[in-house]
Amino acid sequence: MARKEFTTKTRKEALKRSGKRCEAVGDWYGLPEGQRCTADLSLGVEYDHYILDANSKDNSLENCRAVCPRCHGWKTRNRDTPTAAKTVRQQFMGMKTRAKVKIQSQGFAKKERAPKLPVPGPRPIYEAQQ
Ligand SMILES: [Zn+2]
Repeated sequence: MARKEFTTKTRKEALKRSGKRCEAVGDWYGLPEGQRCTADLSLGVEYDHYILDANSKDNSLENCRAVCPRCHGWKTRNRDTPTAAKTVRQQFMGMKTRAKVKIQSQGFAKKERAPKLPVPGPRPIYEAQQ
């Protein structure tokens, strides 16, 4: 899965907006309500999708937060992961189903690759090539 990222321009503008201080604020990043982290971003900066990209598809500056690795890590563990894992799982299941259909209708049937394999039977291709 290709994860969408912020453009260089958006990253630059977010960093400028932050004043090189971590933009993480409040409970969403594991901080006390209304409190901003303000960690020095010259020690390390990461760009966080405030609203998870897989769901929002939003790579705008408004959805970009220049945050320190600690805040980003906390949010990834506590906020992003359960939703992300669910989304990835759903996408993977979709891909798997499509791939299966493609192999059955085009891969083996049209190109007739299956009979050329040294070992007949329903073994995976990578196994037969070894
Ligand atoms: Zn921070």
